[in-house]
Amino acid sequence: MNKVVIVTGGSRGIGAATSLLLAQHGYAVCVNFHSNVQQAQKVVESIEEQGGKAFAYQADVSDEKQVQAMFVATRQRFGTVSHLVNNAGILFTQSELKDIDVERFKQVLDTNVIGCFVCCKSYINQLDEEGAIPGAIVNVSSAASRIGAPFEYVDYAASKGAMDSITKGLSLELAGRGIRVNGVRPGCIYTEMHADGGEPNRVDRLAPNLPMQRGGTPEEVAQSILWLLSEEASYVTGSFIELAGGR
Ligand code: NAP
Repeated sequence: MNKVVIVTGGSRGIGAATSLLLAQHGYAVCVNFHSNVQQAQKVVESIEEQGGKAFAYQADVSDEKQVQAMFVATRQRFGTVSHLVNNAGILFTQSELKDIDVERFKQVLDTNVIGCFVCCKSYINQLDEEGAIPGAIVNVSSAASRIGAPFEYVDYAASKGAMDSITKGLSLELAGRGIRVNGVRPGCIYTEMHADGGEPNRVDRLAPNLPMQRGGTPEEVAQSILWLLSEEASYVTGSFIELAGGR
């Protein structure tokens, strides 16, 4: 089977590690990014240096037209998009709920929830046009959906809770068609996202209090995504892998 995957937010962190790992396992990869073309291009170059196939594509996942165009471009380049990783996500500065304004919350929902939703929709529409082929989606949620992220970003936690509901509902809609939909819930992972939350060293601060007493790496998350997309996980759908060091 020709394995073609779109990894949203593939330019850095978990998305970059996932793009690299999937390419090493034979996937042709669309490395989606929003603003950082240089970093996305670096990921593509690393993949190509290792003999893999990839291209970088700029699209705001919250914009349905841009997402549709990304699916068309990927299909033209590599063939039917057989797999999808909804990884793009944002958060803002740590704040109590009372200090979060509505505009910020809407922005978080737009990228994290609407983004996941329109990518899933485009993926299914494309499969409908091509005729059903077995495929799989992995949604990158967060342990925050369970924990609620109090005093940090309840808006972000809520967006991940919504993503989990999409994962569950869509998995049931697609189960009879051989298309699996699962989620991963990372905990504290070493990426640049924490700087966006105003605390670049957040993982080091929290690590001593985690059951495993350390933060996780993007590569550890990527391994679980690889497995969930693969035929090794052929009877797994509507499931979530916790990657939070026991938290
Ligand atoms: P990151 O380093 O901040 O990277 C985020 C990625 O998303 C970037 O590639 C960024 O692209 C892209 N992106 C942001 N807004 C976008 C948009 N509107 N359209 C398309 N792409 C967009 O994040 P990360 O830490 O690797 O996190 C990846 C995922 O894991 C997120 O969904 C996050 O919520 C989840 N997660 C992370 C942690 C953690 O501890 N790091 C824990 C739990 C869950 P540009 O750079 O080009 O703008």
